[in-house]
This record gives sequence, structure tokens and C-alpha cells, in this order.
Amino acid sequence: MRQKLFLGAACLLALNSAAAQSPDPRPLEREIFEQLIEINTSDSAGRTREAAEAMQRRLIAAGMPAADVQVVGHDPKYQNLVARYRGRGGSAKPVLLMAHLDVVDARKEDWSHDPYVFREDSGYFYGRGTNDNKAGAAMLVANFIRYKREGFVPDRDLIIVLTADEETGGEAIKWLLNERRALVDAEFALNTDAGGGELRDGKPIVFSVQTAEKMYLSFQLEVRNKGGHSSIPERDNAIYRLSDALSRLSRYNFPVSLNETTRAFFLSAAPSQPIRMAADMRAVARTGNPAAARRLSAAVPYYNSVMRTTCVATRLFAGHADNALPQLARATVNCRILPGVPPDSVERVLARVFGDTAVHMSRIEEPTPSPASPLRPDVMGPVEQLAKKIWPGTAIVPEMSTGATDGLYVRNAGIPTYGVSAIFDRVDDVRAHGRDERVGIEAFHNASQFWYELVKAVSKGGPAA
Ligand SMILES: [Zn+2]
Repeated sequence: MRQKLFLGAACLLALNSAAAQSPDPRPLEREIFEQLIEINTSDSAGRTREAAEAMQRRLIAAGMPAADVQVVGHDPKYQNLVARYRGRGGSAKPVLLMAHLDVVDARKEDWSHDPYVFREDSGYFYGRGTNDNKAGAAMLVANFIRYKREGFVPDRDLIIVLTADEETGGEAIKWLLNERRALVDAEFALNTDAGGGELRDGKPIVFSVQTAEKMYLSFQLEVRNKGGHSSIPERDNAIYRLSDALSRLSRYNFPVSLNETTRAFFLSAAPSQPIRMAADMRAVARTGNPAAARRLSAAVPYYNSVMRTTCVATRLFAGHADNALPQLARATVNCRILPGVPPDSVERVLARVFGDTAVHMSRIEEPTPSPASPLRPDVMGPVEQLAKKIWPGTAIVPEMSTGATDGLYVRNAGIPTYGVSAIFDRVDDVRAHGRDERVGIEAFHNASQFWYELVKAVSKGGPAA
């Protein structure tokens, strides 16, 4: 008992002296977050330069050399912040830390409050970008300032990149990778804009690490016809031919194909599932069992998307008058292609499924392939250790996004990228891009602490292996 008391006092002393050295980081994190939210960086407002410069001023004021904190971009409207925190100058390549400054447009009349006013209410911060992705940008900047104040010197350089058009095009990150490679070149990247944590009944359950993204590719389908008077229909009708092709697509499934990430996803997700589903997840991950895959696909559309390439009709347009036979029928088919699958092969499969040479197919854009990043131990190790320390009992789950972020382009440029936003949220109430976007106050500060420690852990030089 006595000894316990003594230990308790010693711990208190230790805590006090630690507190004296490093002040509570929360006020700074909050202040930066608030400043970012209140600069409207939606595409229509176009104020990313202002946001980038505000962060630039803070980092320079904290003692970073001006030459290491640059505001650059391919277009005056889309300006990025790139800040390099110098390390000891060893041989290890830098680590790139990613977030984006831009947000999806929000209309004041759709929200309960002005989306560009930072607001705190019942345990949440509200405002456009609180979730996607200004919390990430704020914590990266706040942590660099913390490191500077402590006099922390990493073994390798650390680079923050805050991009300006993640939501609308990804041109900013492509430009940096293609035209300013030396500024952002890194051994690997950590992305605040992907991954995350799942809260169930207020408890942290799953910590996701995004290591792969599907490739995005849309096709335009067109059937043309000579047309004519609708009072004299003919067998050959553009609308019917197109809709026949689309209904064949609706019945087609691309083959099930798992990779390192999606196998790990099902294996680590299984323990938190009901017995039958857990068994199916393990069977799919271990042997690709077709019956198990069928049941998972039928039960949860997301699992279906995780296991295979998908292509779905998203738009339809046809005809020119109520009383005329259609001369043109047009549809858009949007595909999300598994990493490593060539787009040409998907196009060939679609042509076979449509089975009609009158259906002309063209690509709406050229896709950016994005290889899955390997589950490397020098990244996954510290991530797992820290996640388990801060959120005990959570399962660490690698994931492949079915959507896309700037990380897609970074992987495409040969830099493995790991999405670890570390922000825990309910999965049944996702408000990113939507109205009354918010982030939990505790969730925000905890994620910031996770990043503070993670970046320190991975800054210790080259690969552990
Ligand atoms: Zn985002």
C-alpha cells in the first residue's frame, strides 16, 4: 500500500514535469482548425491560396526557414502548401504527410448554420471540411509547430503537402509529382484523407488503414439510328438496343479477385461479425470460396465492391421528340476497377457482355492506375502499436477504397501510400460532402495525438527490415 502510494506520487511528479515541458496541444490544434474552416476553400470560392498562406505564416513563425515552406501550384486558383521539416540528413528518404485544403461546396440554406463558421456543439466541431479533410490539415500543421517548439530533429526529412483540388480533379497533386518531384519525393506517404476509425455504440471498434484504391473509369455508350416517325415503329430502335445491352450488364458479375489488402481486410474484420458472416469472410480470404463470396456479395453491397471490379449504368439520355423514333441513345457506365487489372481487359469484357456491335463504347477519361501499397512492417508496425495504445481493443483493418483520393496519384508515381486519418466516427452517420458536416472533438484531438506520435515513430530513419 505504502509502496503504491509512493509510486503514485512519483508518477504524478513525472506527469507534472512532462506537462511543464510540453503545454496542452489542444488550444493550438483547435485554433488552426477554426482558421482553416473559416476560409471558404470550395471550388466556387477558390480561396485555397489564402488557406495555404495562412498555414505558411504559422510554420514560418514557429521557426521553419521560409525557403522550406512554399506555396506553389499549377494555377493561381489552386495553390498548395509544401513544407519540409529538415531531419539530420541521413540516407533515408523523406516521409510525405498528406491532406487537402479544398472542400466540397456547401450551401448555407441547406445547413442548420453557416457551413463556413466554425461551431462547437455537444461534443462536436461543425463546419464544411471538419471531416473532409481540414481536421487532417490542421493536425499536420499543429504537429510541425509542436515539434519545432520541442526542438525535435527527425532522422529523415518530413514533408507536409496540403493540396488545393482533391475534390475536383487532383491536378494539383499530379502537377507536384510531375513538375516538382524533388519537393514531394518520399519513401512512402501517410494520408490523413483516408482510412479512419469506426465507432459502434460510442466505442472504437475498427481502425482502418487504406492501402489501395480502385481505379475510376467511365465509358460512354452510344447507339445511333436513322430514326423516323413514331407512328411507324421499326424493329431496329436505338433505345431498345441500348437498354438490352444495359440489362445484360445488370446481370453480369466480374470475377471475384482478392489481393493482399482485401484478404487482410476480411480476415481482420471477421472477429467482429456474426458467426456465419465471419466464416464466409475467412473462407473468401483463404480460398476465394465461391459460395461464400456469393453470400457476402448478396448481404453487403460494399463487400461485393471489395471483391471484384464493378461497372454500373449511371446516366441515360435518348431521343429528341415525343413523336420521333430515337436517332441517338446514350448512357454512361462507371467502372471501379481492382488495382492491377488493365482497363483494356475491362473494356473487352464489357463489349462481350453488351454483345452488340451497334453499341459504340468510348472512354470518358483516361484512368490512372494505382498499385496497392504493400503492408510494409515499418509502417504497419508503428500504426498498429499506436492505434492499440490509444484505442485499446480495436481491430486494425487494411482497406481498399472503392472511391479515390490524391493517394491514387501518389501511388501511381511509385510512392506507397497509407491512409490513416485516425478519426473515429459512426459509420451510420457519415456527413463528409453532406450537410452539417462535423467531427467529434475528442476524435479530432485523439487523432492529432496519434499523428504526432506516428510521425515521430516513422521519422527514425530507413526501413526497419
Ligand atoms: Zn477528402
